[in-house]
Amino acid sequence: MSTSFWKPGSARPGSSLDRSSEASSPLITSSSSPNTLPIHSSRLAILHALSSNPILILSAPTGSGKTTQLPLILHTDGYPSIIACTQPRRLTAISSASRVSSLLSSPLGSTVGYTIRFETNTSSETSIIYMTPGTLLRECIRDPLLTRYSVVVVDEAHDRGVESDVLLGVLKKVVRKRKDLRVVVSSATMEVEAFRDFFEEDGVTVLQIAGGKKFDVEVAYLKEPCEDYVRETVETIWRIHTDEPQGDILAFLTGRDEIDSALQQLSDRQLDLPASAARLHLLPLHSGLSTEDQTAIFPLPPSRAMRKVVVATNIAEASITLDGIVYVVDCGLVKTRNSGEVVDDVRVEAISRASAIQRAGRAGRTRPGKCFRLYTEEVFLKEMRRSSIPEVQRTDLSSTILLLKSLGIDNLVKFPWVPPAPTAKNLASALEKLHTLKAIDDHTRLTTTGMWMSELPLPPHLARILLSSATEPFLCCSEILSILCMLSVTSAFFAPESAETQLSKRSFSAQEGDFLTLLNVFLAFSRNGRSRKWCNLHRLNFSVLSRAVSIRGQLERYLERFSSSAEGYHLQPKSSALRTPDAVERIHKCLLTGLYPNLARYNPSTLSYTLSASNQLVHVHPTSTFFNRQPPHGKRWIVFAEATRAREDKVYIRDLCVLDDLDWLISAVPGVYKVETRWGGTGGKGSIVHTSGEGDDM
Ligand code: ADP
Ligand code: MG
Repeated sequence: MSTSFWKPGSARPGSSLDRSSEASSPLITSSSSPNTLPIHSSRLAILHALSSNPILILSAPTGSGKTTQLPLILHTDGYPSIIACTQPRRLTAISSASRVSSLLSSPLGSTVGYTIRFETNTSSETSIIYMTPGTLLRECIRDPLLTRYSVVVVDEAHDRGVESDVLLGVLKKVVRKRKDLRVVVSSATMEVEAFRDFFEEDGVTVLQIAGGKKFDVEVAYLKEPCEDYVRETVETIWRIHTDEPQGDILAFLTGRDEIDSALQQLSDRQLDLPASAARLHLLPLHSGLSTEDQTAIFPLPPSRAMRKVVVATNIAEASITLDGIVYVVDCGLVKTRNSGEVVDDVRVEAISRASAIQRAGRAGRTRPGKCFRLYTEEVFLKEMRRSSIPEVQRTDLSSTILLLKSLGIDNLVKFPWVPPAPTAKNLASALEKLHTLKAIDDHTRLTTTGMWMSELPLPPHLARILLSSATEPFLCCSEILSILCMLSVTSAFFAPESAETQLSKRSFSAQEGDFLTLLNVFLAFSRNGRSRKWCNLHRLNFSVLSRAVSIRGQLERYLERFSSSAEGYHLQPKSSALRTPDAVERIHKCLLTGLYPNLARYNPSTLSYTLSASNQLVHVHPTSTFFNRQPPHGKRWIVFAEATRAREDKVYIRDLCVLDDLDWLISAVPGVYKVETRWGGTGGKGSIVHTSGEGDDM
């Protein structure tokens, strides 16, 4: 199959975005040193703006130095305390920090460092910290005026992630109280007017840096729409490899399955290449990978004769510079997630023009580049929306609201949301969830439990489970800590679905369910001296398990800190419950305090499971103890940690255990379910009724 592209002479990335200046960028062919980047010619204007107004909105094309140079300029100019620079994604917080450290020839973690969830690399000398907006928000709980910082740069503001939006609202409040704090909102593709209006009464300067020195990115569109974008991506990568000069390739697809399939096809094709031909060095990039595997995209390929091909989801869309990328292949689509009660509604949708420009901007950063858009120019100009839909419109807001409450912001309607504000319905359902999790009381006031939940670096439902484990009647803190840290990392087994791994897994496998299997793995790792050799023997990933140990240590430290004011809590992370006869039951009951909505019912006549909340058909994930197995002892209800939508829209549930007795639900989350016993007996015959919904036969 061959597809024809055409290259509009005038259309450079961004040519149709009103405020984007990318179209006017002159072609530069020499290598640029960091000090000649466009941001430097505007250095004085930036410093002057910040001395006159507390807020600066900085719009400058991709590659002009916003992410890596702006914090350095502010640091060099002598801003007295730490400069925070937020990045929507963890990977870019790390990669930006490493780039800036290497520019200063100082080790990462000294002058420049980063902080992301479960991982900090800073020291007492650190003056520039790259972090995620969520990390900075959580810091506000303990230091509401952010006194550690003199400037906060909210980078990639166009991303409109809920945490960066909320951070802007919080910063708006902080600058009113702290006259010395400076805030920079930056992006190449944001809607400048919306942000300017938002900050209007607080003193704001808008600076739009145009053109300047950067490399040209030539854009080619398809003449006709393509039918199969994964195949088209593979074809385009292959054509670049065979027809175009040297240079690495970055391609965008929507998810892990597509990425794996594209990489497999490319790898198969390579087999037919003559021995003398250059090989492809193929790398995936998606959020399912560990940070370590994600950063594998940065080094040069193992041999100079190889062409690196990174196939990524939109996590590579902004802030990343992969030295050597000359070609970008953009399928024009993205997977979006709309929170549902149990299963998120995941859709593949067209990206915005802002995203398309960011994607193209990944080429041409260290040399001229080319971007192949697998859609027509007409789609780009006429059908794509200008910018992304704010996440606040489609996400579960419970953790956001918990955070705002812990910052003392009780009136959620009056909070300065970057428009559009969340709907009343969204706010109400988040409040209801927080109430069930005991984070707020009947008057929607934050409880002590809620306060701690907001500080813990876990989503609210998992934080609730951890805190429940330290209370009567559960008292299984040590085991829950181990289970939660295992749930917080990627699968500890190599190739979890392979037959060899399944065999090894069997030696850890617990009949009672996957949570205890995770616990067994964690305990065995600790018992065997946390040794790499032991891991290899059992097809376990040493670095994943070491990370789990580190996460457990961090969570333990939170509990130690809470324990000074912990009335009614038995925060004893070190004493094991396993010696008591009902330990397993207590662990499972405790998990229900957070996982209560995640119920599925086994139907013996169809040998399948359906969700209790929606009757939707779900499949047990192949990595589960219950895969291809009936629940034991004629039980019909199971609880799961996660439901994910995969290929062909099939929903898989993973990390399961059996619900022995429906009464467990009543005690775990009083008021949410009602159980009506019909003919009694220990088999739990009865029906379960969601208090706000229909009955469901047992
Ligand atoms: P912006 O945030 O405005 O898109 P950056 O600060 O990320 O710009 O990068 C500016 C320029 O610095 C890039 O175009 C590139 O030339 C150079 N650069 C940044 N990071 C790296 C890196 N890791 N390796 C090589 N060059 C880099
Ligand atoms: Mg950037």
